Parts: sequence; structure tokens; C-alpha cells
Amino acid sequence: MRMYPAAFAYHRAQSYSDAVSQICQLGEDAKFLAGGQSLIPLMKLRLSTPRHLVDLGFIPGTSYIHGNGGLRLGALTRHAAIAASPDVARLSILRDCAAGIADPQVRHMGTIGGSLAEADPTGDWAPVLLATGATVKTLGPNGERSIDIAEFILDAYQTGLQPAELITEIAIPLPPQAGTGHQSRGSARWGGSGGAYIALKRCAPVYASASVAVQLTLSDEATCADARVYLGVLGLTATRVPAAEEVLRSGTIIDKTMEQVRRAVMDIAEPVSDMRGSADYKRQAAGALAKLAVDAALRRARREPVEVSHLYA
Ligand SMILES: Cc1cc2nc3c(=O)[nH]c(=O)nc-3n(C[C@H](O)[C@H](O)[C@H](O)COP(=O)(O)OP(=O)(O)OC[C@H]3O[C@@H](n4cnc5c(N)ncnc54)[C@H](O)[C@@H]3O)c2cc1C
Repeated sequence: MRMYPAAFAYHRAQSYSDAVSQICQLGEDAKFLAGGQSLIPLMKLRLSTPRHLVDLGFIPGTSYIHGNGGLRLGALTRHAAIAASPDVARLSILRDCAAGIADPQVRHMGTIGGSLAEADPTGDWAPVLLATGATVKTLGPNGERSIDIAEFILDAYQTGLQPAELITEIAIPLPPQAGTGHQSRGSARWGGSGGAYIALKRCAPVYASASVAVQLTLSDEATCADARVYLGVLGLTATRVPAAEEVLRSGTIIDKTMEQVRRAVMDIAEPVSDMRGSADYKRQAAGALAKLAVDAALRRARREPVEVSHLYA
């Protein structure tokens, strides 16, 4: 097996608009390069053979996490930076995701923008960004756009990006905090929001076998005003689970609710058997992960400190 890429020319962009115009001039055989953690392995295997790479990695001001009024992540922000940032404290689900991606080497090189552009159905970011209602900001030959994440991810390895268009930023609305959102008991304790993302992996440097992202907002100690539940790896794109969301919103969350969520997840999951496990194993795993993720999200919404990490088996 060849382990060297086909010959290509390397170009360094000075700004996003410079990158867009370089790609426009170089044509279809040119690609953007970010962390290189998906693109370079594909090039080494000759599954991708661009003749030109336009490197975004030296453009100033493209890696940042800003927390005022909502979270804004620069496209070139590394997974490791997100995992370590105090600014993601109100969205613990982001830390769960970033901290569990592959190993430290990949986390320190790979970017959130590159992950979204790749749209790998086994990637971790899609279910999490869908659960948090993110918006993807882009720049292309026709100017800037803001695209709802649900409309951005079209299919496996397919996004709404136009030719020569790049991702510049991911914007995430901050969920309601206790005391600012729904309050049914006049107590600032209720109205909190919590989320959790849990993936099952064989070991750190491989993609997940199954994963579940949950973000919910409480109107009462155990009553859910809003819920979003997405599965990763269990379909061609991240899969929303409306039946689980409806169950969560329909009353007090008790053991029976958790069991209904588990069943809803298992019903909608479309896993395939592969080296990471049989379809049935993945379906069972997704159901179990959903219960764990709902439990962690619920406790976080109640302001309990809950550490979540991926499970390895
Ligand atoms: C061993 C290993 C294990 C991994 N495990 C996981 C895992 O468990 N979970 C997971 O989610 N990911 C995993 N990854 C992938 C990793 O998260 C990568 O960071 C990610 O897929 C791509 O990000 P990148 O910055 O490296 O993009 P690149 O590889 O540089 O680019 C990927 C694609 O996106 C395009 N692109 C890059 N940036 C932009 C942009 N701003 N706008 C438009 N297009 C752009 C490129 O042209 C290319 O087509 C793993 C990677 C490796 C090598």
C-alpha cells in the first residue's frame, strides 16, 4: 500500500478571502487544508489526489472561542483548545465531544471547521452541534452566508458548501441558565439547561461505534421544557430522535421515561455491521448510551457537577 501522497503544490493563504480567491484560480483540483487529520491520510492512501493545497493554518485570527452572548468558535479552533476552554462551561456537551476525539496528537491538530467540512458520518461533532442548534458561517466567491447546521449537513461526506466556499465560524446559542429561563416554582434553581455527549469506542484513536448527544432544558426539577436527542454513527448522517424528545417533554422524567427513550433510540438507529461491531451490538449500545446521556444532561441541568467521558469496550 502506498503511504506517500501524489505530488501536489502547497499554497499558504494570508486571509480567508485570499484562500477563496486562490481556490477559485486553481480550480477543481485544489483543496483547503486545515489540520490535515482527515485530508492527509486520504492523500497518503491516494483516495484523494488534489494537485494544490491551500493552507488555512497560517491565517491570523481564525482560532478562537468567544463567549459573549453566545459561543463563537473560529473554524481553525483545535479540538484540544475547545476541550480545555473555560468558555465552554455552560455547554459541557462541547467539552465531552472535543475531549473524546481520538488521541492528543489528533486533538491538537484537527479543527472543528475541518471536521464539519469533512462530514464523516462517524465524526463526533455533527450530533453535538445539531443538539445545540449551531449555525455555520461561511465565506465564498459570492460572499458570506449563515447556514443552520441542520441544513448544512446534507449526507455522508456531503455539506451545503459551494465550490470554493469555506467555513469561517461556528456559532452556538447559549442555553438558558437557572434563573433566566423557565421558572415554574419561583426558584432560581429551575430553568437550567444541561447536555451530554457519550460515545462508545474500541480505543482512543478510532472513531466511535455509536454515540448519543442530548441537550435539554428543565422547567421543573425533573420536567423537561425542551429536549434534543441526536445519534452519531448510526446512519449516513447524525440522526434526530423525535420520539425520544417527545417522551422527554411529555412529563416528569422517571425510570419509565428513560426506558422509553432507550426504545425510541433503538427503533430509529440504522447501524451497519462492520469491524467496530454487529448492527445489533451497536443498536443495543445506542440505547444504553442514550440513558446515560439523558441522566448526565438532567443532572447537569440541576447544576450537579457531572463528569462524562467516552466509554471504551
Ligand atoms: C487517527 C485519527 C483518529 C480520528 N478519530 C476521530 C474521532 O474519533 N472523531 C472525530 O470526530 N474525528 C476523528 N478524526 C478526524 C479529526 O477530527 C479531524 O480533525 C477532522 O476530521 C478534520 O479536521 P482537520 O482540521 O484535520 O481537516 P483537514 O483534514 O485539513 O480537512 C478535511 C476536509 O475539510 C476541508 N476543510 C478543512 N477546513 C475547512 C474549512 N474551514 N472550510 C471548508 N473546508 C475545509 C478540507 O479541504 C478537506 O476536504 C480522527 C483522525 C485521525 C487521523
